Amino acid sequence: MKAFAFLGKNKTGVVDKPKPEAGPDDAVVRTTASLICSSDVHTVRGVIALPEGRVLGHESIGVVERVGSNVRGFRAGDRVTVCAVTPCGRCDFCQRGHSSQCGGLLGGYKFTAQREGNLAEYFLVNDADFNLVRIPEGLSDEQALYTTDMMSTGFAAAEEADIPLGGSVAVFAQGPVGLCATAGARLCGAGFVIAVEGRPDRQRLAKRFGADIVVDPSAGDAVAEVIRLAGGTGVDSAIEAVGLPVTFESAIRCTRPGGTISNVGYHGEAGDSLSIPLPDYGYGMANKTIRGTLCPGGRERMERLLRLIETKRFDPTPMTTHRFHFSEVERAFHMMETKEDGILKPLVSY
Ligand SMILES: [Zn+2]
Ligand SMILES: [Zn+2]
Repeated sequence: MKAFAFLGKNKTGVVDKPKPEAGPDDAVVRTTASLICSSDVHTVRGVIALPEGRVLGHESIGVVERVGSNVRGFRAGDRVTVCAVTPCGRCDFCQRGHSSQCGGLLGGYKFTAQREGNLAEYFLVNDADFNLVRIPEGLSDEQALYTTDMMSTGFAAAEEADIPLGGSVAVFAQGPVGLCATAGARLCGAGFVIAVEGRPDRQRLAKRFGADIVVDPSAGDAVAEVIRLAGGTGVDSAIEAVGLPVTFESAIRCTRPGGTISNVGYHGEAGDSLSIPLPDYGYGMANKTIRGTLCPGGRERMERLLRLIETKRFDPTPMTTHRFHFSEVERAFHMMETKEDGILKPLVSY
């Protein structure tokens, strides 16, 4: 089969690989569509140590080709989606409800990080009964693709933000995860959503996805503006959805005492530590909560994400800006690296 692989720092390419073999609890899926993620770009820059030849990607859907002997809930021919995070469902971490930390720190993230990713003609899903979900008939591949990571992660940011019903939320950056966090904040009952974003195309999408107002950080002090808009005391919840030290600090600074800072940005390029602005953190005594989240996986959560699309609570497809065939995957990936032509999410079909 053909697969898109990491070939050393800042090098990628399409390679030939053997089709994956299903172990007793696994399924092999024939890929029908994928999205490319900014975290694949971070990975290729060498943020996490990977063997050369490791297949990239974690946002793919397809049709079940084969299942292992223990798999009961799925069979060949089922059209399925699977989260980027694929926990085992059995270990202590999973049983405590922290499935993204399956087996240990960040251990639920298995595609690319621990084994072959799914930007490939076929891919393996571990613990298939726990992780696979059938895609409802009325949903397109394009809609279902967004459950794999963008919706799961962006909505997790809102779920972890402890938003009071009718409360105020600031969402820092409106890339695809930030846009989903904006939509998620609305779905979680926020009464006032402030998106912080400088790019006009993303500002427009933020409004479409439910932001009441967009603050442009290049136009002045975004933190002061967020605090002013929230009535002078700061927002109830702030979401960091880009993974930059400055937005992490801004999220702490614009949150009211007692509020919650929810981080889903990936700080892989920030070095070994982030700073907490102490005056705004009450020198440690402002009752502010900082949470950092990797989205949970598992069938039950994925079913709920699909239901939000089915019942028209949310349509993720305005985020698809470009379409490619898998034979053009290298060009699609290069565009994600350079962010040229306003690319937000490229959809790859097979
Ligand atoms: Zn992703
Ligand atoms: Zn586990």
